[in-house]
Amino acid sequence: MSYYPASIQNLIKNIAKLPGIGEKTAERLALHLLRGSRQEAEQLANSILNIKDKVRFCSRCFALSDGDLCGLCGDPARDPSYLCVVEQPADMVAVEKSGAFRGLYHILSGTLSPMNGIGPEDIRIRELIARIGQDQVKEVVLATSTNVEGEATASYIAQVLEKHPVKVTRIASGVPMGGDLKYVDQVTLKRALETRHAV
Ligand SMILES: [Zn+2]
Repeated sequence: MSYYPASIQNLIKNIAKLPGIGEKTAERLALHLLRGSRQEAEQLANSILNIKDKVRFCSRCFALSDGDLCGLCGDPARDPSYLCVVEQPADMVAVEKSGAFRGLYHILSGTLSPMNGIGPEDIRIRELIARIGQDQVKEVVLATSTNVEGEATASYIAQVLEKHPVKVTRIASGVPMGGDLKYVDQVTLKRALETRHAV
């Protein structure tokens, strides 16, 4: 690496900071960018800066969004009386790919984890309760992971929602225990959503 001029060394160093990229791959990518056109390099650099400038959380469901409302919340074809509660934006994408859900989402951004000091006020449960009142939600589908933390979070939300006039369901056991939603195949996830049960 020290055989390269400082500018290339610097690029290699920055690419190697990305997850899953080792020094060798970083070197290969840096040389690839060097060989490419200025336009390609600009497109890559600008698209990276763009996500930092533009992407924020949807003010309604907390999905990643380029505007105040995400594409799903702004889509009149979606049924706002169904809310699917997931842990992370990637889980929402997994449920969307399954094609089994036509409602809207609520992204918690994490799970309850007393061991790590993460309590109900650290994930967006208060916002979820506020939405139920405002948006005339009929059913809340709890699609958190089936690991210990995901189950504990689903139980807690179900308990909190008991006081509210809303049906609460949990995705069915098609999702393997300990399963992280985003790694579950689409068919399994579709079945798990279709055969959800009341809690
Ligand atoms: Zn949204």
